[in-house]
Amino acid sequence: METKDLKVDLLCLGARVSGVDKGRKGGAGPAAGGMFLFGGTVANVPTQSWFVSQSPYNVDAENGKYVIKRDGERISEVHFPSKKFEKLKTGEGIPYNKIALLHGADCLATTTIQTCVYWNTPKRCKFCAIELSLKSSATIARKKPEQLAEVALAAKKLDHVTHVTLTTGTTSTPDRGINYLAETARAIKEATGLSIHAQFEPPEELSMIDVLYDAVDTVGIHVETFDRKVLEEVALCKAEIPFQQYIEAWKRSVKIFGDCQVSSYVIAGMGESDESIIEGSKVLAELGVYPFIVPLRPIPGSDMENEKPPSPNRMRYIYEEVAGILHDNGVSWRKNKAGCVRCRACSALADFE
Ligand code: SF4
Repeated sequence: METKDLKVDLLCLGARVSGVDKGRKGGAGPAAGGMFLFGGTVANVPTQSWFVSQSPYNVDAENGKYVIKRDGERISEVHFPSKKFEKLKTGEGIPYNKIALLHGADCLATTTIQTCVYWNTPKRCKFCAIELSLKSSATIARKKPEQLAEVALAAKKLDHVTHVTLTTGTTSTPDRGINYLAETARAIKEATGLSIHAQFEPPEELSMIDVLYDAVDTVGIHVETFDRKVLEEVALCKAEIPFQQYIEAWKRSVKIFGDCQVSSYVIAGMGESDESIIEGSKVLAELGVYPFIVPLRPIPGSDMENEKPPSPNRMRYIYEEVAGILHDNGVSWRKNKAGCVRCRACSALADFE
């Protein structure tokens, strides 16, 4: 079985694990997964969702090593990344793993502001679990720049972290959390020199993005789906932002950060057609933006927890098609300096390039 096929299967079907860290419950983005390293790639594999019990995959310990099996048959050896830093605490006694986590093989990730202005409203994104990990005290509401700088330095020294992903819940201020992302990123950069990625909603005033110019290396502005009806259904807050505003935000960001340094999550499996994803990805690639296509991750506790991810075959078809489009436009994950595109644990698109 080719590595890319196994990765798609694992992203869509999940795997049962025992005796291995299953990953934290809740969080922003495709949370509630374990980071699997195998065959030269990395995958953020669902280990806690309901459908995992039906997956043909499981991980077994064998002579001190871990092995992925399919219906009991040995498929590949698997490793789990080292995260020594997550066991440390700050001087005030806050565990580092409440401040940031290791994502993928070598990325430090955190949600700088773990609250979202839409959370307790009908406008919140149904696929998101941002405030769940806060409720369960697995994290803290607002990470201070100096705390993140301290954790990032330890992660770099102890676990060879090479880049950082910063995301944020949307704030009620017009900058949508961008100013705090910039402040945090500056502190991390000064302490560690690591490459940094920041994710945010398109601000109404585009010039607000400019403040990130010297603070981060790459940005993510996430459209989630190109199907506006689906978007209205699953993420009303985002559906209220005109598509043109996304386009303008991507364009401005490419001007600031360069080709392949801007990305957008595109979630497959929320009711959209294959064409919507493929055509939308073409629009992005032509702008120099990387379409970070992920299968829907129904996170336990989120409004979509009972949904099922799309089939692996559907994802393989989409990845094949979009990889061709990326190639034609000279867009590649290899050119990207930091964040999800460089990490690639949640999407197998890079593996199809
Ligand atoms: S791709 Fe992004 S969200 Fe997924 S594990 Fe990597 S850094 Fe985290």
